Amino acid sequence: MSEEKTKGQTLAEELFYKKKSAFELWSEDERKAAMSYCEGYSAFLDDAKTEREAVEAAIAMLSKAGFRAYKLGDALQAGDKVYYNNRGKSLYAMVVGTEPIECGVRISAAHIDSPRLDLKQHPLYESEGFGYFKTHYYGGIRKYQWATIPLALHGAVTKMDGETVNVRIGDLPGDPVFCLTDLLPHLAKDQNSRPLGSAFTGEGMNVLISASPYFEEDGKLTPASDKVKLAVMAYLNEKYGMTESDFMSAELCIVPAGNAVDVGFDRWLIGSYGHDDRVCAYPALTAMIENKDCPHTLMCVLADKEETGSEGVTGMQCSLIVDLIDELARNLNGNPNVIRANSMCLSADVNAGFDPNYPEVYEKRNTAIVSAGVAMSKYTGSGGKGGTNDASAEFVAKIRAMFKEHNVLWQTAELGKVDQGGGGTVAKYIAKANIDTVDLGVPVLSMHAPFEIVSKADVYSAHKAFSAFCK
Ligand code: MN
Ligand code: MN
Repeated sequence: MSEEKTKGQTLAEELFYKKKSAFELWSEDERKAAMSYCEGYSAFLDDAKTEREAVEAAIAMLSKAGFRAYKLGDALQAGDKVYYNNRGKSLYAMVVGTEPIECGVRISAAHIDSPRLDLKQHPLYESEGFGYFKTHYYGGIRKYQWATIPLALHGAVTKMDGETVNVRIGDLPGDPVFCLTDLLPHLAKDQNSRPLGSAFTGEGMNVLISASPYFEEDGKLTPASDKVKLAVMAYLNEKYGMTESDFMSAELCIVPAGNAVDVGFDRWLIGSYGHDDRVCAYPALTAMIENKDCPHTLMCVLADKEETGSEGVTGMQCSLIVDLIDELARNLNGNPNVIRANSMCLSADVNAGFDPNYPEVYEKRNTAIVSAGVAMSKYTGSGGKGGTNDASAEFVAKIRAMFKEHNVLWQTAELGKVDQGGGGTVAKYIAKANIDTVDLGVPVLSMHAPFEIVSKADVYSAHKAFSAFCK
């Protein structure tokens, strides 16, 4: 029996786009490569739970690869591999290419801050025999998700003499953890009747940190007041040399305790705190580090403050990116305005992956499918594309062609149904400097939760996409 295709069948094959998953397209070797690449990513997640820790981890990786520290005003020339450490909280790695600088810079920009609970400036108090930290949440969280899970304390305390002490408790074997308590179901009648968004209050997010008073050297209960608070302060003083007033110049964060883990019998998913946006930062950074003999000038930005609007000196709205391009221009005899006009940027941030448990909020045709590759969003925003960068058709076509040439598995994505919600990224702040920018990132399930999920296939696809950009 002949199986000759009809013209219609042939046409359908030629003309239609069909999204395919990594499992339909990849060879066994590619699947293995994805699995093995993600081991490094999981280790990075464990090292880098805050922007400060991510900067440190990135500098270690860059230094090992021969990058050196750069200060504004330093000389730059073709072949230089440098990084600019912005206040220990954001990082700009650069490889100066061999082509004329006016050809532009290829920028990948991810963020390394994640939603969490920051300690207030006067955080420590005691109540009914328990010690607590008052917190002010950072970024968009669903508050109920943070109750009754093990929490860790990460951050830095800078004393008046300028010495900074790093704090990290809750992740190493044997470390204690902290937690937010919740009501027992037996007594939650009133709380259960409140809407999910208001059942937990920001002011109620007080983290339980201790449960005993201070004991004097002779082993007897202290007669001093605030006995529980004193016990905590004595511990912090002994361990970190800090006094209560040092909280005023500290950045201490409560983050989920524990390490990244494989999820599922087949181990194709990774569960962790802070995929958003280390899952783009790591692939962008490793792509730049691994790149060899790229003629283009490359910049990889690991930004802070995205989750609170990219404001501040370490956020993407700071003029530093423009300043660094000015520095390149000055050193390499280019017109900075021409450099920016010819530059392009992949705004590397996560997207919402389609979750079959909540199909009602997604429009499946235009949502990122987990394991179907890195997701490109031509536009983001909310309420009629409000606040979007919206990359041009011409620029998207250029990136499509680049991905095709380098065999990158990718898909387009829009964050949920129209008018369901929405969100933004750093894309618009980079575009503001006259740099063509499009959003590209890994689909995530349970985004902004203490335990987010990504697929190793998508992490590896992101790495291939950023590598293509570095060629
Ligand atoms: Mn993000
Ligand atoms: Mn986010």
